[in-house]
Amino acid sequence: MSTAPPTVVLGDEFARTLPELALPRQADEAPAPHLLVLDERLAAEVGLDPDWLRGPEGVRLLVGNHVPDGATPVAQAYAGHQFGHYSPRLGDGRALLLGELAHVDGHPRDLHLKGSGRTPFSRGGDGLAAVGPMLREHVVGAAMHALGIPTTRSLAVVATGRPVRRETVLPGAVLARIASSHLRVGTFQYARATDDVDLLRRLADHAIARHHPAAARAANPYLALFEAVVAAQASLVARWMLVGFVHGVMNTDNTTISGETIDYGPCAFLGAFDPTAVYSSIDHAGRYAYGNQPVVAEWNLARLAEALLPLVDDDQDRAIASAVEALGAFRPAYGAAWSAGMRAKLGLAEGLDDAVASPLVDDLLVLLRDNRVDHTSFYRRLGDAARGDVERAREVFLDLAGIDGWLARWRALAPDADAMDRVNPVYVPRNHLVEEALAAGERGDLGPLERLLDAVTAPYDERPGFDRYAAPGPEDPDYRTFCGT
Ligand code: AMP
Ligand code: MG
Repeated sequence: MSTAPPTVVLGDEFARTLPELALPRQADEAPAPHLLVLDERLAAEVGLDPDWLRGPEGVRLLVGNHVPDGATPVAQAYAGHQFGHYSPRLGDGRALLLGELAHVDGHPRDLHLKGSGRTPFSRGGDGLAAVGPMLREHVVGAAMHALGIPTTRSLAVVATGRPVRRETVLPGAVLARIASSHLRVGTFQYARATDDVDLLRRLADHAIARHHPAAARAANPYLALFEAVVAAQASLVARWMLVGFVHGVMNTDNTTISGETIDYGPCAFLGAFDPTAVYSSIDHAGRYAYGNQPVVAEWNLARLAEALLPLVDDDQDRAIASAVEALGAFRPAYGAAWSAGMRAKLGLAEGLDDAVASPLVDDLLVLLRDNRVDHTSFYRRLGDAARGDVERAREVFLDLAGIDGWLARWRALAPDADAMDRVNPVYVPRNHLVEEALAAGERGDLGPLERLLDAVTAPYDERPGFDRYAAPGPEDPDYRTFCGT
C-alpha cells in the first residue's frame, strides 16, 4: 500500500515582506543527488517525515529541485564587513532561502540551501559547495546544538554528483540548513546603505516580530531591538568561550540577529588552551583568534548600531548617544555570562564572593595557557579532582607547584563534581577527528562521521568505547582549516 506524499508547507514571509532583499531564483539541477547524512530528529521537529526525505522526492527537496507549491526560493541580499573591510554587496552567492517551516516549538524556521548554484550575488564564485566543508557544518552544528549553544542546524547534506573545482576537483554537495532566521548584521547594513528608511524599518519590524517580540512593546522598539541583539550575542559568545569554540570568520555577515551561531567555515575547538589560537588559514593577523572573539562581537554590534541609527531617533546625536549607551551593556552582559559559566565549570557555588572566584579563575587560565593544557579534557579531570583523585588533573601540568597551590585553594571551596560533569563536555568535535571523518566522507565512507556524530551529540555522558573521542589530538600548532567553505 502506498501512502500519498506529504505536503510540505513552506512560508514565503521573508520574500513577501522584504522583496528588495529577496531575489527569486531556482537551484541548479543536481545530476545525481545522493543523501549523505540526515538529522532525523531535526526533520521531525520541523514537521518533515524522515522516511520521505530519504526517498527520491525528499532528496530533491533537499537540493532545491523539488519546490513545493507556493514556495518562492530566494537569494537573500546582505552586505558585511569582512576582516574589517566593508563589502556593500555580498548576499547569498551560493545559497537560497526555500522558505519558512513551522517548528514544533511554535516558532518558524528557515529552510535554506547552501551550494545550490549561482545567483545574482555570486560575483566570481561558482555558487557551489564541496562535500567536506558541508559535512563539517553538519557535524559541528550538531555538536553545538547538543552542547546547548544557540546555532543554525544542518538538516541534511546531499552529494550532488557534480564535481566542484577548488585547488583540486572535489565532490559537490548541498547542505540544507534550518535556522531561526538568516537575518544578519550585514542584512541591516545592506538595508541601511540603500537609504530607504522604509525598507530598514520593515526589516527591523520583521526581526522584532521573529526574534525579539518584547521590543515591540518598548518605548523605543528599535533601540530595544538593538539591546536584545546585544544581549543575545553577549550570551552566545560567552558560550563559545566557555566551550573553547573558535568561529574563525566573525564577519558582520556571519553575525546573526537571532543570536545563533552561523556559517561554520574554518572553525575549530581549542586543543591546548591558548587565547591567541587561530585556525583559519586566511586569518593572517589573528583578527578572529579565540581570545579576540568578545571584542569582535562588540565591534560587529557597533556596525549594527550604525545601521539602525535612523530608526533610533530622528536627531542623529541623540540616536548615537542612545546606541552607544546600549552597546555599553555588552561588556557587563558578556562578563556576567562568562563568569557564571566559569564558576559552573569549576563546580563553585553561584553565591561565591567574586573577590574569591575571580582571581581563582584568572590564575587557572594563566596556568592552563602556560602549561598548554587541553581545554576540554582538563575540566573533566578536574571533576575527578573534586571527587578526591587530584592526580588526573595534576599530571597534565609541568608546573606542579603552581597547580598544587591552585588545587588546594579550589578544593577548599568544596566544588560539586556532579554539577561540573553536567556542564563540562567529554566529547567535542576535535579537529583531527573532524578531518578524519570528512576525508572518509569524501571517499564515500560515512562510518567515521556517524561515529563522531554519535559521540558529540551526547557530549556530557562518558561512554565506553569512545575513548579516542575524548582524547586530545596530536599537538599541532600549525593546524589550519582551509577556507574551502
Ligand atoms: P562565507 O565566507 O561562506 O560566509 O561567504 C561570504 C560570501 O561569499 C557570501 O556572500 C557567499 O555567498 C559568497 N560565496 C562563498 N563561496 C561562494 C561560491 N563558491 N560561489 C559564490 N559565492 C560564494
Ligand atoms: Mg557567510
